[in-house]
Amino acid sequence: MTKPIDPINELLTAHGLRRTYAAKLVLGWFLAHPNTSYTHSQLLLVLAKDQHEELDKVTLYRLVDRLTQVGLLLCRVDTNRVRRFQAMPVSVHAIPHFECQSCHRDSPLADALKANVDDLERAAQNALAALEALGYQGHSIDFAVRGVCAECVTGASH
Ligand SMILES: [Zn+2]
Repeated sequence: MTKPIDPINELLTAHGLRRTYAAKLVLGWFLAHPNTSYTHSQLLLVLAKDQHEELDKVTLYRLVDRLTQVGLLLCRVDTNRVRRFQAMPVSVHAIPHFECQSCHRDSPLADALKANVDDLERAAQNALAALEALGYQGHSIDFAVRGVCAECVTGASH
């Protein structure tokens, strides 16, 4: 039996964050509410209600900032100049994939690239963050590698 993978732990590790109770709680909450954007104080309230225990305010604020820095959360400033946070929308993520020009299969590159895929995604996110800082909007990246897949090259049937 393979060990079950906790996606939240994986995400934290992949982004160089410690897998603390608070980090798992906060990231888990955002991922479970993908279309909700919350302010620091709203988040503090809702987590206290969900968990029946209050997270330290400073810890929570630092954590949210850190998650935003590494690109797991998206920070937007609303019309009242209040910062709101939400889970990074999928449309913002670059998901490297391979388009075979022979069999026309489209497959994610995560397995083939292993650890390198994190570098690619991080580079893409950094580029988007840099553009956003310059005032660009409506960002998405289509990260496709086009060529002939290994199976087509070797002539294996599939
Ligand atoms: Zn192919």
